[in-house]
Amino acid sequence: MIRLFRVLALLATFGPLLTLAQTQPPMASPSTAAATAPFDISAAVNAYLAKMPAARRAQSDAYFEGGYWLILWDFLVSAFMMWLLLHFRWSAKMRNLAERITRFRLLQTAIYWVQFFVVVGVLTFPMSVYEGYFREHKYGLLNQTFGPWMGDQLKGLALGIILGAILIVPLFGLVRWLGKTWWVWGAVLMIVFSAFVGVIAPVYIEPLFNRFKLLEDARIKDPILSMARANGIPAKDVYEFDASRQSNRVSAHVSGFANTMRISLNDNLINRCTLAEIQTTMGHEMGHYVLNHEYKGLVMVGVVIAIGFAFLNWGINLTLARWGAAWEIRGITDVAVLPLAAIVLSFFFFLTTPVNNTITRTMEFEADMYGLNAARQPDAEANVDMFLGEYRKLDPGAVEEFVFYDHPSGRTRITAAMRWKAEHPETTSLEEMNRELFPQK
Ligand SMILES: [Zn+2]
Repeated sequence: MIRLFRVLALLATFGPLLTLAQTQPPMASPSTAAATAPFDISAAVNAYLAKMPAARRAQSDAYFEGGYWLILWDFLVSAFMMWLLLHFRWSAKMRNLAERITRFRLLQTAIYWVQFFVVVGVLTFPMSVYEGYFREHKYGLLNQTFGPWMGDQLKGLALGIILGAILIVPLFGLVRWLGKTWWVWGAVLMIVFSAFVGVIAPVYIEPLFNRFKLLEDARIKDPILSMARANGIPAKDVYEFDASRQSNRVSAHVSGFANTMRISLNDNLINRCTLAEIQTTMGHEMGHYVLNHEYKGLVMVGVVIAIGFAFLNWGINLTLARWGAAWEIRGITDVAVLPLAAIVLSFFFFLTTPVNNTITRTMEFEADMYGLNAARQPDAEANVDMFLGEYRKLDPGAVEEFVFYDHPSGRTRITAAMRWKAEHPETTSLEEMNRELFPQK
């Protein structure tokens, strides 16, 4: 279900946009040299990058570069599975079964969806296990044993069935009702659905996978709430969640809309980072909030989706004219068309990978700038950027970063932090600069 669900619930997944904040950078030879000579930004950046041992760096590069190929393989594998459903008319049979069970059209769509999602989940299971379990373990990025991991997958499956039905049933209703112009209102529906998922996520979705509790430690909580007040953010509490249940990755996020809006720190961030590093991370997250990235993201993703749906409409009609009868699909209003829709739409999102990445990467960079100004901890920011380099290649080429990065690379972020520090030498922190981040085991 890997890619497929990602495409169908793209709106739901734009939440990650607000995940993984970053913070501040450090520098190389600050004290004596900086006092007299001009601050050398690129030397400072390289000194931070050198904090990660070569072997660890090679591993991170291999992990991230492997991910480029997975974009291709995910697309090809899921497209092949969808083609099987069409070619052997399994999709038509699932629709026939749904029609035998009930005569209510909306219910037929829902029943088809459940069958479809479960079948696709089973077919793509080997790929999911490789990608999500074995590969993550191979790179030391997953803490879970198979049982709890599988438990999370099953919860994800149940969630996909429910949320998918909430989306697919009205979507097919629109297609039947509006005919040729369905794609415009379909995109609007996707935006509404996305906002809906965003609202309920902190309260009903995230707690399914992790335990959230109020952060009690005043030494961390008070400075964060102070920064929130200074930046006009109406948060009263800060939450902590057990991300270490899944991995050692450092992250934080602001999630929810309006009343469900909350700041959450993961326990890895709290356990592995200094207060300055936590502050700069929160400065980044607050940037997402103040800059209204959730709303802007909805609009930009909405535009991409509208274009995607127009492409989908065209692609489906073209394909059905040639193969529709052989696959026993009656037309675009027939729910059995879903595997074909998945192929066309995942092809669209495969092609537009750089566009979607650039939308989020640009906002992430804006949040970095905001965080630097809010927290004023460039050295701590650079250290956090290095931690994120455990699972994101630190120093890619420019084209590589443009195409594949949904967040700026470590080099880009540290460079921004050092550039900021060059103008604010009084914020230099020797403690952060000298801090060892990756103790040799
Ligand atoms: Zn972010």
